[in-house]
Amino acid sequence: MVETTGSLDDDDARGKAHVPEEVEDAVRTILKWAGEDPEREGLLDTPKRVARAWLEYCEGYREDPSVHLSRVFHEVGGYDEIVLLKDIPFHSHCEHHMAPITGKAAIAYLPDKKVVGISKLARVLHGYARRLQIQERLTAEVAQCIWQHLQPQGVAVVIEARHGCMTGRGVRTPGVGMITSRMLGCFLNDDRSRKEVLSLMGY
Ligand SMILES: [Zn+2]
Repeated sequence: MVETTGSLDDDDARGKAHVPEEVEDAVRTILKWAGEDPEREGLLDTPKRVARAWLEYCEGYREDPSVHLSRVFHEVGGYDEIVLLKDIPFHSHCEHHMAPITGKAAIAYLPDKKVVGISKLARVLHGYARRLQIQERLTAEVAQCIWQHLQPQGVAVVIEARHGCMTGRGVRTPGVGMITSRMLGCFLNDDRSRKEVLSLMGY
C-alpha cells in the first residue's frame, strides 16, 4: 500500500478509475443545463460519481460476451430437451436517451452436441446489456451469440422490460412493459417447439 499525500486524489489511491477533468466538466454542463448549481455542496462529487457509474453501466464494451460460451461440455448424457434459464433480471440503458432499461429475460436453447454452465447464459445477457441498447437489438444479440457459439438446434430469447424514457419522460406511462423475442433454428421453424418453449417460459 502506497502512502498518499493530500495532493493525490483519495479515490485514485483506492484504485478507482481515474476520471479526466473533461469528463467531470461534461457532467457539470449537463447539471447546469438541467437547472442545477454544480457548485453546491451536495453535487460537488457528483460528476466523478456519474462518470464512474457510466463506466460500470457500459462495462460490456470492454468484454466479448462470447467468452462465456467458450468452455463447453460435450458430454450431454443423452439429454436432448430444452435448457431454459428464466426470470434473469438485468439492467441496461437505451441508446436514445441514456435512460435505464430494467427487466427480465428468459433464455432457452435446445442443445445439439454442446452445453454450457447455466449461469453463462446470464453472463452473455449482461455482456450485451451493459452497453447502450435498444431492446430489440439486445434480444437479437443474445440469441445470435448462443446460436453461433453453441450451434444448438434452436435458441429462444424473450425479454420483458420497462424503459425509463417512457415511464419518466415523454408519454410518462409507468407500468408499461415491452416484450421482444428472437427465435432461431427449431424454435423459428417448428410451431410445436416454439409453443413448448414459450409455455415453459410462462408465455
Ligand atoms: Zn429511450
